[in-house]
Amino acid sequence: MKFCLLASGSRGNAIWVEEGDLALVVDCGLSAREFLSRVGVAGLDISRLSCLLVSHEHRDHISGLGVLARRLKIPVLANAATCAAASPLVGRVRWEIFTTGDTLNLGPLKIRTLGLSHDAVDPVAFVMESQAGRLGLATDLGTPTELIKYRFQALTALILEFNHDYRLLMDGPYPWPLKQRVRGRTGHLVNETAATFAAKLYHREMRYLILAHLSEINNNPALALKVARETLDGALEPVAASQWEPTVVFEF
Ligand SMILES: [Zn+2]
Ligand SMILES: [Zn+2]
Repeated sequence: MKFCLLASGSRGNAIWVEEGDLALVVDCGLSAREFLSRVGVAGLDISRLSCLLVSHEHRDHISGLGVLARRLKIPVLANAATCAAASPLVGRVRWEIFTTGDTLNLGPLKIRTLGLSHDAVDPVAFVMESQAGRLGLATDLGTPTELIKYRFQALTALILEFNHDYRLLMDGPYPWPLKQRVRGRTGHLVNETAATFAAKLYHREMRYLILAHLSEINNNPALALKVARETLDGALEPVAASQWEPTVVFEF
């Protein structure tokens, strides 16, 4: 399995995953043009892309989705509530609807969809599994629930939100209600909670931990990486994804 975070953060998210002949993308909060440019920079083959998956309807996850799906003539997979909420912004695309909790069998990939705690209509995390291993992906969540903890066992790679540093958030420019929203159970993960959760999920076969969806204003890669490194205590070397450029293509 290969994966690459083409962009990660509140200005746009897109995660490429491929296995065998199948390539898919989770969310597209970049313009289609920027998305295509980053696919090129990362050295990925756009002609292999066969569908788009949606985690939730927030703008940073769907703003480029409609144009991209129409241009490439590929379907968009989402649950019904997310489809309804996203449709006004996404426009006419070929939706394929799943129910949260379903396992989707897409060629060599088995994708389990999991509900999570975030302030969208029906947000989901994904576990993608093939013979090569398991990739867990949760980029917007207010709290790591028991369900996520349970389903994120035995991952080969974990993409997890490290949204903010508590001090930067509290001392920063966000208005008070927004600070409360970010900190809430349906908001975003603080570095320490994310790191503790990642350490709990760590096991010897875990090869990659990607820190995702870092806030530009309330976090920075050095801080998030420091917390992750200290908490994991050398177990593996975390990588911080960027808003501005693709990560390397990870492979297992
Ligand atoms: Zn987001
Ligand atoms: Zn969100």
